[in-house]
Amino acid sequence: MEPVHIIGAGISGLGAAHYLAARGIPAIIHEAGQGHGGRAAAIRHDGHMFEIGGKNFSTAWPRFTALLRDFGLTEFEPQHPGFHIVMADRLVALEKSKTLTGDLRLASAIGLRGALQLRSFLAEARSKAEALNYTAGLIEEIERDWDHMTIDRHFTKSLVEGPMRLFSIIMGGAEPSELYPSLLMLFASGFGKGQHRAIKGGVGQFHDALAAGKTIRHGSAVRRIHLSGNAVAGLEIADADGVHQVPASRVISAVPLHVLRQMVDLPAYARVAAASVRYFPLAMVNAVYDAPVFRDGVHSIMFEPGSILGHCSANRLHQPHHARFTLSGKAARDVLDRPDDWLVGAAERAFSARMPIAANRTSLHVARHTGGICGYAPYFTRVKRDLLRGVAGIGGLEIAGDYLEGHTMEGCLTSAALAVERMLHTETAARLAA
Ligand SMILES: Cc1cc2nc3c(=O)[nH]c(=O)nc-3n(C[C@H](O)[C@H](O)[C@H](O)COP(=O)(O)OP(=O)(O)OC[C@H]3O[C@@H](n4cnc5c(N)ncnc54)[C@H](O)[C@@H]3O)c2cc1C
Repeated sequence: MEPVHIIGAGISGLGAAHYLAARGIPAIIHEAGQGHGGRAAAIRHDGHMFEIGGKNFSTAWPRFTALLRDFGLTEFEPQHPGFHIVMADRLVALEKSKTLTGDLRLASAIGLRGALQLRSFLAEARSKAEALNYTAGLIEEIERDWDHMTIDRHFTKSLVEGPMRLFSIIMGGAEPSELYPSLLMLFASGFGKGQHRAIKGGVGQFHDALAAGKTIRHGSAVRRIHLSGNAVAGLEIADADGVHQVPASRVISAVPLHVLRQMVDLPAYARVAAASVRYFPLAMVNAVYDAPVFRDGVHSIMFEPGSILGHCSANRLHQPHHARFTLSGKAARDVLDRPDDWLVGAAERAFSARMPIAANRTSLHVARHTGGICGYAPYFTRVKRDLLRGVAGIGGLEIAGDYLEGHTMEGCLTSAALAVERMLHTETAARLAA
């Protein structure tokens, strides 16, 4: 049987290969880099495990947790039960569970109006999350009521600068007004449901299990998806030996949308849709110190708007000496091209202004994501429909990724499973018609 060519060995591509294998269909994954895991990769460095992006999951996620069981991964670590946020120039402690249910104690920090608005927003999102369970269907439903609003108009200033910014940072760090639909997606993806956990030893074990037995061509960068008429005909691939044309009639793209846009000519309406999905660059700095840098019950800090530091947390609750700095948001985007040393120094200074670092750094890893997290476009429902319709017009092409079913590892797995289902459904329909 001709293999399906998958582009990208992140969780979407590995997931697509897994769901194909479950149906007995072989796949070849073309991966530009030398590893796998993409934006949720874990890198062993200096004897430490550095997770450079996605790592936390919810025990309420059906696909991710089913795979954890299949892979025999049973040892997890809890995530921080609370966090601190810089508001009005001071560190305000917030309990995650209470914040997510709209804790009225927040009124003291953000004002009564903001707290009530947050409460009603969360109640709305959560009631629908129960009904629609982690699929993009939720955002489509919510958008019917919500897409005419902008976050700036709907929420008070303190709320936008406080908890709403916090949620946007959790998702990868842009400003709330840039990520309004993504905030809805955050609640759609089960945030606030289940227990938040990280895999003991790092998320890399999950990817390794998913990658086991799969054919992955590392260092194989796809440059173009060639079409013949309205169908996929092949791939142009650059690798260590040069540029090759590889025949292919079944392709699943599992790269971020801003990468796919450069590879294939979509119809005009789908190109417009694709252009409206934004990816926000960020840098993830993992730094280990010879003494704790978090103390006094602080494990995780969200920084103020205008800071180049969006967020910094202890890698695990029991690792106050291992900090994960996320440089994100508008201010950070202006400086992300500076050298590593500069970024690290600036991050440490911003952190020290809130919690002085009295320790020596012993290990460091800087990862830059040119497209950090997917910012869902306003009118996501229409964007997704136009994208899927545009791709459906190209025989043999399917898409999976964080821009379709939620920008979490669960959303990526769902998009991968759906891409496989659509591909098989179309092929069956074509066979029946013939
Ligand atoms: C800082 C940060 C924190 C996050 N935290 C969480 C979290 O705690 N929990 C959670 O669930 N999610 C989290 N996410 C989101 C999650 O990590 C992503 O949604 C997910 O990893 C995206 O996976 P993907 O496979 O769709 O894309 P990617 O991971 O980007 O994979 C795409 C792959 O394609 C490869 N590629 C690119 N171009 C080409 C080409 N031309 N040819 C061949 N290969 C190519 C890339 O090298 C990469 O390996 C976080 C993301 C970030 C950035």
